[in-house]
Amino acid sequence: MSLPGRILIGMVLGVILGLTLGPRSPLLPKDALVFEQRSRARVLSEPRADAERLPPTGGRERLSMDLLGRVRGPDARSYYKVRYTLKAAARAKSYGFGRGVRPAPASRTLEGYVAVDDAPAPTSSLGHSLLGALSPFGRLFLRLIKMVIVPLVFASLLIGVASLGSLSKLGRMGGITIGYFLLTTALAISIGLVCANVVKPGRFVKPGDRERLAQSYAQTASEKVKPDKVARTGFLNRLVDMVPDVPLWAASRRHPDMLQVIVFALVLGVGFLMLPAARARPALEFFESVNHVMVRVVQLVMELAPFGVLALLAEVSGTAGTGVLSALLVYSLVVLGALLVHGLLTYGLAVRVLARYPLLRFFRGARQAQLIAFSTSSSSATLPVSIRVAQENLGASGRVSSFVLPLGATVNMDGTALYQGVAAVFIAQVFGVSLTVPQQLEVLFTATIASVGAAGVPGAGIITLAMVLTAIGVPISGIALILGVDRLLDMFRTAVNVTGDLSATVLVARLTGELGEPGGAGPSGPSGPSGSSHGPRATDGRQQ
Ligand code: ASP
Repeated sequence: MSLPGRILIGMVLGVILGLTLGPRSPLLPKDALVFEQRSRARVLSEPRADAERLPPTGGRERLSMDLLGRVRGPDARSYYKVRYTLKAAARAKSYGFGRGVRPAPASRTLEGYVAVDDAPAPTSSLGHSLLGALSPFGRLFLRLIKMVIVPLVFASLLIGVASLGSLSKLGRMGGITIGYFLLTTALAISIGLVCANVVKPGRFVKPGDRERLAQSYAQTASEKVKPDKVARTGFLNRLVDMVPDVPLWAASRRHPDMLQVIVFALVLGVGFLMLPAARARPALEFFESVNHVMVRVVQLVMELAPFGVLALLAEVSGTAGTGVLSALLVYSLVVLGALLVHGLLTYGLAVRVLARYPLLRFFRGARQAQLIAFSTSSSSATLPVSIRVAQENLGASGRVSSFVLPLGATVNMDGTALYQGVAAVFIAQVFGVSLTVPQQLEVLFTATIASVGAAGVPGAGIITLAMVLTAIGVPISGIALILGVDRLLDMFRTAVNVTGDLSATVLVARLTGELGEPGGAGPSGPSGPSGSSHGPRATDGRQQ
């Protein structure tokens, strides 16, 4: 069976596994209360609101409690009776013991009461253990793929630019690419805005639901959107932040700053173009070979993809609550509908009419990258697969895919921008604010910048959404309203983001005469300055 087929089966099995054996499964007994952060657990010594409060009173770690039963307190409220263990290390921290200064107290088990209104929905401890056992496989797959991102993006973009041969060619390809990115992003947001204004999803949220959502996600929302993450929003500041002062630092931190890596690769690529070919050749050959190795490694890792996506999807489907989904159903449907319209209409027109490329072949060729984007919710993690797919399935040259795709994975996020448009209108509607036309234009402008600034990682869009809301004067606490469904919608918008990048690749390849037969021989033409072919199938021709 083909790889996309196996990945699809992995996805379906993952969802089934998550729903039937996950913590929320209706088949398993609900015997645990799991607080994602200890600080949110309000445990009382007796089932009364004014009873003494038991530890923990702080801490960000997760805390799981055994559910012993349910009682009605003298104040007529319902309480869960719980038993839980405070681990020595965690207690030492919450009591402020310095490391090694005083001996940490021993672990202790406590019993108490948690008001039903203050507690998360009970879940199954067996379900948690099963998903816990599965989750390392998902993370392993993600890490293996993330491992190659920085070297691949850097090498790929560098040789992508350097192999163009001249600055004027770079200007032309860069111009078409950036122009297409901006145009499709603006179209995506417009589609989102129109859909949100026509359907008005905000009117379907009942006031009670609004309070409930705002309360249960308020803390997580304020943690996600820390002031320093949104403070530097000025256009010039953003420009300055894109240039790395120490490129190695940008590349080697735990969360590499891909925009900075890209700028460094672009500048270096331009430097190569300005050198005589003979001078540039040794270094270019080195990076070309790094690029080939990375593509090979990705091929190897992709063999694990069916298992990786199985574990990832089991986790998502097993932990996502359906309660939130029903309150936000109309909002979610508007986002999904608008994504579908954009995916089919905008990309359909661009690919069929502008690039004169068979539509079915495009979507079939892009499928593998879309599935990985959907499962990982990360354009960056999907990049190695997109590059492979663009060259092997779609017939774009190495020159074009090495240039367009790394750039697109970081700066071109149509799905994210569209969702930010819908979310901004939705949150405003729920708060009873009606956005004027100039305000909606402001959404268009800021969401374009916000999607450029968003990193290609899960949940990045919701962080930069704060920027859009601030610009139009809607309280950013409104993000709490949509947080519950964000993980799910992220999967769809990432698939659209990646499709957008691939459509750009096909179009740029067509307009620059770099589109060959998929999986076949590419257009003849000048090779890169290193003398080796960097046209379509350059990778495969040499290595397969
Ligand atoms: N997860 C998205 C991506 O990687 C970004 C976002 O919308 O959160 O493309």
